[in-house]
Amino acid sequence: MQRTHRIVAALTALLATAALLGGCGKEGSPPVKGPQPDQLPVYRVASAFTLSGSPTWNRAKKRGRLVVGAKEDQPYMGEKDPASGRYSGFDIEIAKMMAASLGFDPATIEFRTIASANRETALQNGQIDYYVGTYTINDNRKKLVGFAGPYYQAGQSLLVRTDEHGIRGPEDLAGKRVCSAAGSTPYQRIERDHPEAELVAYDTYSVCVDNLLTFQVDAVTTDDTILMGYAAKVPDELKVVGRPFSEEPYGIGVPREDDALRFALDDAIAAHQKNGDWKKAYDATLGLSGVPAPAPPAIDRYPAS
Ligand code: GLU
Repeated sequence: MQRTHRIVAALTALLATAALLGGCGKEGSPPVKGPQPDQLPVYRVASAFTLSGSPTWNRAKKRGRLVVGAKEDQPYMGEKDPASGRYSGFDIEIAKMMAASLGFDPATIEFRTIASANRETALQNGQIDYYVGTYTINDNRKKLVGFAGPYYQAGQSLLVRTDEHGIRGPEDLAGKRVCSAAGSTPYQRIERDHPEAELVAYDTYSVCVDNLLTFQVDAVTTDDTILMGYAAKVPDELKVVGRPFSEEPYGIGVPREDDALRFALDDAIAAHQKNGDWKKAYDATLGLSGVPAPAPPAIDRYPAS
């Protein structure tokens, strides 16, 4: 925990310095804003909701609040304000919508930061009730956890310094130092499809970005959603290049055996897409990166295990 805080603080300081050095664009250009609380939807809390077939829901009910796993260093998706301790971003809004549908006041959620490599264990150990943090659904992970959704479709991309002109896609990575998060699908894809790249792994992408800004690595690779957030913070220093080269359908991670919770969350995602909350939440968070809201992907309600 301490270490993560130190790293995030270091990145924040570094990004601020980079912004100053780069002049943050032209004089008078507006600062990059995070999500504005007054733009966020207010979710209606389901009253008299019960899900007695779900061990996770029953445990949360007894506790009196939900404990949700998330990321804390991914601007527009899951970001923790070091001063207030508050989390914001599209994933955080999804977590809140789900809470409201499960009959919990979203304001009472206890968020816990969990790195990419630790998500499955956190769900298996009961450290968290569900996880919302740029979490790609795939068959390997489905052996360990369950997934509601998908609620969004991202794609792997590359982040480089603005003065880099030799890297436009994954085929340009031979001999380059490329950073990603341990345990992530982007890391695994580069390892498998581009073995000629020199891969470097850290727990979090913010440490990778730190290394990119200080010339320790040549590129950072992960989902476009995450990279766009970093680029937006220091547009004079960093840019996202090329086209996305994978499909990363985001799911809500749940304990594998808790099909009742998974189906309830599938229903909740569908309901919030229908009533406009999903689009409003997107526009107020990830939409700030400049990409208009796409049509949400179809929910994959796979059979009970
Ligand atoms: N969506 C990818 C994954 O689940 C990359 C982002 C992340 O590490 O959270 O591995």
